[in-house]
Amino acid sequence: MNPLVPEAIADYLPNAIQLAYLLAAVLFILGLKRLSSPATARSGNMLASIGMFIGVVVTLFDRDIISFEFIIAGIFIGAIIGAFLARKVQMTSMPELVSLFNGFGGAASALVASGEYFRLATEPFGGHELGAMVISLFIGSLTFTGSMIAFGKLKGIIGGSPMVYPGYKVVNTTLLIILLVFAVLFVVDADNRTFYLVITGLALMLGILLVLPIGGADMPVVISLLNSLTGLAASATGFVLNNNLLIISGTLVGSAGLILTMIMCKAMNRPLANVLFGAFGTEAAGPGGTTADMGKTVKEVTAEDLSVMTTYAKRVVIVPGYGLAVAQAQHVIREVADFLESKGVDIRYGIHPVAGRMPGHMNVLLAEANVPYPQLFDMDDINKEFEKTDVVLVIGANDVVNPDARTNSNSPIYGMPILNVDEAKSVVILKRSLNPGFAGIDNQLFYGENSYIFFGDAKKSLETLIQALKEL
Ligand code: NDP
Repeated sequence: MNPLVPEAIADYLPNAIQLAYLLAAVLFILGLKRLSSPATARSGNMLASIGMFIGVVVTLFDRDIISFEFIIAGIFIGAIIGAFLARKVQMTSMPELVSLFNGFGGAASALVASGEYFRLATEPFGGHELGAMVISLFIGSLTFTGSMIAFGKLKGIIGGSPMVYPGYKVVNTTLLIILLVFAVLFVVDADNRTFYLVITGLALMLGILLVLPIGGADMPVVISLLNSLTGLAASATGFVLNNNLLIISGTLVGSAGLILTMIMCKAMNRPLANVLFGAFGTEAAGPGGTTADMGKTVKEVTAEDLSVMTTYAKRVVIVPGYGLAVAQAQHVIREVADFLESKGVDIRYGIHPVAGRMPGHMNVLLAEANVPYPQLFDMDDINKEFEKTDVVLVIGANDVVNPDARTNSNSPIYGMPILNVDEAKSVVILKRSLNPGFAGIDNQLFYGENSYIFFGDAKKSLETLIQALKEL
């Protein structure tokens, strides 16, 4: 019995714990629901955090495996590291942080499953317990190493381009089959520790081998998938420990991660198999390389030209992309938008679902600059408006506005839904050079009749624009 619980209420404790778990699960679900809109996302985050707090505190009363001193020290150290990371990590580094979280989540699941395997070694295992244990071990170990490779690629510690060798798909498939065979053997004869060791070793290896051939820029999709797998591993661990909250929260993470993965793939119009096994980016132009069409010329504009174009426009649509995040130009674009609005210009932002390098990247950046939510338009809604738009400002976006996706069946992004900015009266693209974006392909938009390029770092360009607007 737990020494901290008075005898009088000890009888009611199991039911109270299950009720508290139910409350925590409801808070997780409501929190997730609210996360689906930028207007409610903060409160959603808060609700889910309260749910997690309830879950942690209640579990302390449910478990007395290790001493409270250790648990409290763990919470304390974890909270300090979490608060430090939350304050320090840049928005553009968020995918790296999430991949670390995923990796540790996977490792925790595999360690708990291993702990239970050795702790209960003297007792006969139930079939379903063993099944859950092997899933937790397999997926947890694979997610751990896979997430570490994803982290390394995003951080630039290991090369971001796909690392492939002849026959790598056959090797990976063979390893997966061997692993599944050993998983079955483990369930049949759990006393044989060789099976345990082989499963752990192969899963750790497979995590590395599966992620290495995937290009760095596809990592956000991979991370979302690994996140989903971490959820499944946690859910399996819930079955091992007989803990309902872990089962529910793991399932929520698993399904949310999978839905997000599918949304990203759909927005890029690439099947998941193409992201995982297509080695996308092998042919792409490297940094500094250019695929610019040498025969064609682009029309340049200056801050002064642009200040005239935008001041006399009825409607200006701003299309942010990855370059906005790199330049950290979200605050200055808000300043430009506010200024133009004060002159009576109708301002809207067109957000492509995969603009930037992670889902919701642009929404988060613009929310950081307090851009009003009603000005943000999804792709389908804003696409109807471009014909009636005088000026589109494309800020550090490239692939998500590339008309090749509509017209060139040989293009790697053919079929990807894009923002039809070329339908507007004028399009001004803010970027530093004619270098391509993530897909590594030239963009015919730059050479269009109604297209103009404002060369330079987006933040600096917008700062000169605001100056020119004020002087007009
Ligand atoms: P892109 O990667 O296509 O283009 C970014 C552009 O920003 C480049 O052309 C670059 O040009 C410019 N740029 C970079 N730094 C700056 C700067 N400091 N100032 C001004 N411009 C700058 O971005 P998009 O947002 O259009 O597209 C996102 C791509 O990422 C898509 O292909 C998508 O499929 C992919 N992707 C997105 C994911 C997501 O979840 N959002 C996940 C995985 C992939 P230059 O160097 O000349 O300045």
